[in-house]
Amino acid sequence: MISEERIRERDEILIPGQPALKRAGRSAKPENTVIAVNGVGIGGGEIVVMAGPCAVEGEEQLVSTARAVKASGAKILRAGAFKPRTSPYSFQGSGIEGLKLLAMARQETGLAVVTEIMDPRHLDLTCRYADILQIGSRNMHNYSLLEEVGTSRKPVLLKRGMSSTIEELLFAAEYVMRGGNSSVMFCERGIRTFETCTRNTMDLNAVPMLKRISHLPVIVDPSHGTGHWWMVPPLSKAAIAVGADGLLVEVHCDPEKALSDGPQSLRPDRFDQMMRELRPVAEAIGRSFHCPGDSRPDRS
Ligand code: PEP
Ligand code: MN
Repeated sequence: MISEERIRERDEILIPGQPALKRAGRSAKPENTVIAVNGVGIGGGEIVVMAGPCAVEGEEQLVSTARAVKASGAKILRAGAFKPRTSPYSFQGSGIEGLKLLAMARQETGLAVVTEIMDPRHLDLTCRYADILQIGSRNMHNYSLLEEVGTSRKPVLLKRGMSSTIEELLFAAEYVMRGGNSSVMFCERGIRTFETCTRNTMDLNAVPMLKRISHLPVIVDPSHGTGHWWMVPPLSKAAIAVGADGLLVEVHCDPEKALSDGPQSLRPDRFDQMMRELRPVAEAIGRSFHCPGDSRPDRS
């Protein structure tokens, strides 16, 4: 087991006073960064839930899911228009049409939108339709893309590479911030290990480690982290308990017919149930959590 002293040495490489992390480290900014998106503060006292389908599949699918997740307390709608698929023969997303549908869903529901950008040439286009730019796991090491989103002032959700270390994730944030964009949030989405029962291994260690080293918000994605819808509620609770600032959750009205990631997508009723169960967990550690339908006063 790694000793407390070893962890301190590691911190010294990465944090206070050291040149390694010039922007993302607590030496650059001791207090937590709170990123304001559409009236919500990510990284503040409130746990922010981003939810929606893996991919935009059509207007009805997107808008009905957006309405459902909003009714359950999600503040941000997630869905991919450009999808990074392992096989080039799998559904690749609906592209620009998908971005337009996301803007329509935002208009309909008032939810902010987070969607993935895969190509630096799509920056202006994506900024027109999205409130948060998602850098996917496969692109965490794509330094030209990181630099490109660094030139914009849109908040960036930076997902951890599936085989990347926490240190590499921190330096990926530096690439974005060096361009002047300081609104970066990390997303732990599970890493590849020898385990095969789950899609990835949810590295919840990363949450307190990132919070200790960096002032940036940390989001957890238990959908990609586990690959199983029924594991999403328990891992969401665990993520909040270890200090995550928010969650990124896949929800689909008909998971069996989903064009991608059905097995890890919660049905809206199950998502709603989970949201109700998350509030006491958040409150137990002094965070606030909003889920409509719960008439108890906000105690934080
Ligand atoms: C996603 O969030 O839709 C996604 C593709 O995730 P990841 O990049 O973590 O695989
Ligand atoms: Mn997905």
